[in-house]
Amino acid sequence: MCGIFGIFDHPEASNLTYLGLYALQHRGQESAGIVSSDGKCLHHYRQMGLVSEIFTRDTLKKLTGKSAIGHVRYSTAGSSELKNAQPFEVDYAKGGMAIAHNGNLTNASLIRSELESSGSIFQSNMDTEVIIHLIARSKEKTFAERTIRALKQVEGAYSLLFLTEKEMVAVRDPYGFRPLVLGQLKDAPVVASETCALDLIGAQFLREIEPGELLLIDRDGTQSFKPFLQTRYAQCIFEFIYFARPDSFIFNRNVYEVRKSLGVQLAKESPADVEMVVPIPDSGFPATMGYATESKIPLELGMIRNHYVGRTFIEPEQSIRHFGVKIKLNPVKGLMKGKRIVTVDDSIVRATTSRKINKMFRNAGAKEVHVRISSPPITHSCFFGIDTPKKSELIASSHSLKEIQRYIGASSLRYLSLEGLRSCMKEEADRFCYACFSGDYYLPCALET
Ligand code: AMP
Repeated sequence: MCGIFGIFDHPEASNLTYLGLYALQHRGQESAGIVSSDGKCLHHYRQMGLVSEIFTRDTLKKLTGKSAIGHVRYSTAGSSELKNAQPFEVDYAKGGMAIAHNGNLTNASLIRSELESSGSIFQSNMDTEVIIHLIARSKEKTFAERTIRALKQVEGAYSLLFLTEKEMVAVRDPYGFRPLVLGQLKDAPVVASETCALDLIGAQFLREIEPGELLLIDRDGTQSFKPFLQTRYAQCIFEFIYFARPDSFIFNRNVYEVRKSLGVQLAKESPADVEMVVPIPDSGFPATMGYATESKIPLELGMIRNHYVGRTFIEPEQSIRHFGVKIKLNPVKGLMKGKRIVTVDDSIVRATTSRKINKMFRNAGAKEVHVRISSPPITHSCFFGIDTPKKSELIASSHSLKEIQRYIGASSLRYLSLEGLRSCMKEEADRFCYACFSGDYYLPCALET
């Protein structure tokens, strides 16, 4: 997962890109970077770490020019190290170009070995770099045409931003796996992964960039192209379930409202005979609101999250059990003593979190801990940019509902059904990718693994 942001022809391009990345920090915390253009050449700064740690007044000052693109990274292809930080910037025969990518290409290693066998030298181990090579090799006249030629050769998930000295290009793959929105700040076009980035800088949301659409933004304005073969949309449902920020508007819907409706549906499908509903912070909040409203059971904030947890360098002694979760979450003791509670969370991946949390509720005196999950069981890995681990690490790929319930120590466990999830997407249900729940991938990505 990653977040991307770009702004064209604004006197404060780098500062605004910095703020845009701040708003998109939830999409990636490993590295961040900005590339700016002053019309003649590109300037870049990339580092490992959080946006707030990386950029200073001085580093931003050096990113001169009226256009900039930025990136926050959460690696799904390529290791977590500086050489893989983005935006990736190169000089080639036609000048400078920088690329920022959210997604995952499914045929990148195949293309890479072909390019390497004909002499290409790669600087990173990211899938994204193949796009740069394909553009540099293209004989087309304009940058937009070279980009289209390159993208016609790659497969998979890509929401992309390119910056050259003179233009910015934004593209979303024909399936529309990852979100990408277009906004405007005064006269300056702004592109971002989610609308929360537009809100922060006071930009107006114009529209989503459509699946398969390429926008060429330069001094003459914004031109839209639809150069790819049309296909079925496969927007990532997990953006709604977990990844995107609840205050964002993506894929034509507000994320908070969708999450709340998942909770309502979950309550209809799987009620619980309990005295209180407790959300698992923070990602479980909206679905819990829906669950509590529909079931008319009081909602209590029985688990409190410490929001100031950064990276922890002190390794605790074995005697501090469940340290990793405890440093972030702590139950409100007394509140649930002798009570039957239901907790609502957005997903179970490996089930380690749920197991630890349920133990904490039991230790706090809860008599029964019923668990409700506002998504179906995750049984398949994602090849399109969500960091779901190998299939063997996904507990639901190899364990029954009863086995998972026993493992996490729950009094009962219920997931939202796939039909229930689809019903919340209403008439747009067929425009989403549910592969992590169904294994229905639409693309021959399994060949890559
Ligand atoms: P676990 O089952 O212990 O692997 O963790 C599940 C929790 O991690 C859920 O409560 C989610 O909020 C969160 N989560 C779900 N998907 C991801 C992901 N791809 N990366 C990081 N956290 C995730």
